[in-house]
Amino acid sequence: MHPINLYNTLTRSAENLSPMDGQRLRFYCCGPTVYGRAHVGNFRTFVMQDVFRRVVEAAGMETLHVRNVTNVDDKTIRGSIAAGQSLEEFTEYWTRLLHVDCEALSILEPHEEPSAIAHVPEQIELIGQLMEKGLAYQSDNGSIYYRIAAFEEYGKLCHLNKSDVRHNADQRLNTADEYDKENASDFALWKTWREEDGDNAWDSPWGRGRPGWHIECSAMSMKYLGESFDMHSGGVDLIFPHHENEIAQSEGATGKTFARHWFHVAHLKVEGEKMSKSLGNLYTVDDIVSWGFEPNDLRYSLLAGHYRQPLNFTKDSLNACRSARRRLGQFADLLPVGLEPTPGFSVFAPVLDALLDDLNTPKALGLLHSISQDVAADLKAGKSEPDEMVAIASGFHNALLAFGIEVPQADAGGEEAPDGIKDLAEQRSAARAAKDWTEADRLRDELSKAGWEMRDQADGYELTKL
Ligand SMILES: [Zn+2]
Repeated sequence: MHPINLYNTLTRSAENLSPMDGQRLRFYCCGPTVYGRAHVGNFRTFVMQDVFRRVVEAAGMETLHVRNVTNVDDKTIRGSIAAGQSLEEFTEYWTRLLHVDCEALSILEPHEEPSAIAHVPEQIELIGQLMEKGLAYQSDNGSIYYRIAAFEEYGKLCHLNKSDVRHNADQRLNTADEYDKENASDFALWKTWREEDGDNAWDSPWGRGRPGWHIECSAMSMKYLGESFDMHSGGVDLIFPHHENEIAQSEGATGKTFARHWFHVAHLKVEGEKMSKSLGNLYTVDDIVSWGFEPNDLRYSLLAGHYRQPLNFTKDSLNACRSARRRLGQFADLLPVGLEPTPGFSVFAPVLDALLDDLNTPKALGLLHSISQDVAADLKAGKSEPDEMVAIASGFHNALLAFGIEVPQADAGGEEAPDGIKDLAEQRSAARAAKDWTEADRLRDELSKAGWEMRDQADGYELTKL
């Protein structure tokens, strides 16, 4: 078992991570709010969390992976009322579509997927503990707030001191009910019923209402992973206030360290722009498929940048990733088929090393290609021993599994060109040999209009269907 070296937002340094109980690496990922289709920005985070799990499992660790679905909040309540459905019905529909998208993207199912609606009693109990400890109070309108002045370590994750936090909160003080709070930066644990909540209310010791958003993740993560666990994760936008508030709730209630390690995935931009509803660039898996790509091309492109850097998602990058997957598919075609894969990475061990070094996916993908090319060259030169090939084929298979990348099969990726296309390719080859570049370019355009890409190689050319 090798530990993974992973950047920890809490300590601002890369640290080794292995199971604190010596058995299973227990981790929690904040899941989506299920009121619409998840978009590529959400999937960057979910795909990276999935790679994290695959990599630690490849390194010999067992995992316990919990990802929640947020189904009680302003957006889901508003959406269900607008759709004339119950909150359960409305959010179950979007949860099903989330599962369809996750499966298409080869994202492993979490071991537990709790929802806020199903865990209201646990949330009420946790709020009760915070009330007993003087860390929460009831306002005049009946809502319960967390008293952040009473939690000494507030701000330790986002590295803000309390006056910065207060300043941020003052800036956002714009809704009437906020004036009930002792302090502008205090946040709601329990929201008293309002008319716009419709039928969505639960009984509590503090009257009818519903839990705030932050409390669900504290209650559900501790229920399934224990009061202290190994790692907690989400997009960088969740560091403050969501994760900061989770720490205040959980550590305030238990007096113990909540999550030891915090793993955050940077933002995604689309064609250089911020993603937003108004720009119409909140692309979904269906959008990507409608452009003629496979979901796995999207997955590959989300791994092409380091998770701590913002990633620019473009159609050009999708194209490049599709070609890269095809090259891997062509390499797979050189390997023996029908073998039972053995454990281990053999010549692909540097790929796992790069992944264990702060999930350096761009470096690891580069290595996957360069090592494949070296092996292919050896094979073509007849330098490989047949008995080495089992270990090499297994290593390649295991490396692909660690990324969760599937490569096109010989007949899918390497579809044979019809005779007319082959003729055009031959003509272009002849034009190139005669150094008639204008004619060669014209023929290449003609091929591309017919849906084929001709790639020149040292010993000829290759035709690939676009
Ligand atoms: Zn959460």
